[in-house]
Amino acid sequence: MSSESVRMRTVLLVDDSPAARRALSEHLEANEFVVTTAASAEDAFELALATPPDIVVTDLWMPGMSGVQLCRLLRAERSTSSIPILLLTASEDRRTRFWARCAGADAYVHKGKIHELIERIQQAVPRPEIAPTGMSQLRGGANERLAQLLDTALFESVIAGSLRALTQHDSESDLFRALATTASDVLEYRWLALVREGRGAMCIHANQAEPAILAEAKEALRCPDRTPSFLCDDRPHQGPPSQTQAVTHEIRLGDKLLGHLAMSPSRRSRPEDDRLFMEVAARELGAVLHTLSLVEDARRLAATDTLTGLMNRRAFVDSIRREISRCTRHSFSLSLLLLDVDHFKRVNDTHGHGAGDQVLVTVARALERSTRTSDIVARWGGEEFVVALIQSGEAGARIAAERIRRAIATAPTQADGGVVIDISASIGVASVDGLDKGCDLDDLVRRADEAMYTAKQRGRNRVEIAPALRPAT
Ligand code: GH3
Ligand code: MG
Ligand code: MG
Repeated sequence: MSSESVRMRTVLLVDDSPAARRALSEHLEANEFVVTTAASAEDAFELALATPPDIVVTDLWMPGMSGVQLCRLLRAERSTSSIPILLLTASEDRRTRFWARCAGADAYVHKGKIHELIERIQQAVPRPEIAPTGMSQLRGGANERLAQLLDTALFESVIAGSLRALTQHDSESDLFRALATTASDVLEYRWLALVREGRGAMCIHANQAEPAILAEAKEALRCPDRTPSFLCDDRPHQGPPSQTQAVTHEIRLGDKLLGHLAMSPSRRSRPEDDRLFMEVAARELGAVLHTLSLVEDARRLAATDTLTGLMNRRAFVDSIRREISRCTRHSFSLSLLLLDVDHFKRVNDTHGHGAGDQVLVTVARALERSTRTSDIVARWGGEEFVVALIQSGEAGARIAAERIRRAIATAPTQADGGVVIDISASIGVASVDGLDKGCDLDDLVRRADEAMYTAKQRGRNRVEIAPALRPAT
């Protein structure tokens, strides 16, 4: 038989009543436990630190420090954090039971139920070893340490509260900027970076926008080199950069990995604060990033034409209005192309609505292929499409429209049974050269529409340009 199996288990019994201590000790000793007693939570804490027992059994209510507070203290110390703790009480109060569980007690037993207590003690097993969070710097006696624990809990709940409030931001860049503001109020770091799983840019807040720092952050976040980065307004230069070990945390919601948060501390940082902040941040950002993704998805769906995947008319109007004000500010030119598929009704009538849909998708892909990324392409409705060419006047728009017309005319669709459907489109172009006097969107659309109608009248599969506006006086 090994010496381990014959060793009697030690119980630290805490109660302010001498009679209760005596009675319980007798029961425990009769059941082959070695008992040490303490008359207060403060004494019990010192004893447990000096010689950690196998189990702690403590009265709940005692003058001075309570059993729940003792429980918190023991959980916060590395040497006592895994000891099973049983709380004894004279009442069955549900709220106290809740707090006891929150404080980390293993069981909550009524004082009158000695048999249940013995049973619970016999069943009690040590908890898995866990590194207590942010508290390894606790110093002083039990009361001082308790005050420090309260400070830590307050710090944690304030940080958690301000991180939860990040859900109000509906864009990645705004959210990260707010996160960096909170983080830099609390931490001293060289850089802080966030990347979402399969989405968005690597967001980074750094002292210097050096390529070496971007590369360092991408490595810490394990994101590919080609990941775009969003650099949050960088702070004033704070002395020479000093390479420190980056701390990286996974951000999860349940089982789902949503991203990574990484931070490279500066030489002046306080490791305990860093650790606590990063742990709380990684935990709270799970729900925050999930909400952001839902908002982005909903926004994208509301702005997308389901058949072609292009922007829909409403989203186009929103973005063209923003572009018009930008072009007006800088006196840029702007052109609008309105495009209508020729004899489309015939396609539907001859080949069926499904083939008609397929033709619309073919046109959409041809439009994407033959435009620049700075152009805005959208489905205007039915078999009509619209393209806005930013910083393009009439001459450039004419060339682009011709390129688009050709791309559509040379992109036939195969209907069921291999029948080839030839398609073409008529395009009307309206331009404003140098937008410094502003521009009315309805007016621009009306002119492009009239030009498109002219293209239809003149035989289809062609480009027509709306007459130039007379310069405003
Ligand atoms: P034109 O050359 O003068 O433009 O003739 P058209 O036949 O293209 O013009 P018309 O306006 O007479 O017909 C457009 C047709 O487009 C009518 C409508 O049923 C069809 N259509 C509109 N939206 C869709 C769609 O989403 N899918 C399909 N398959 N057809 C659509
Ligand atoms: Mg039409
Ligand atoms: Mg048509």
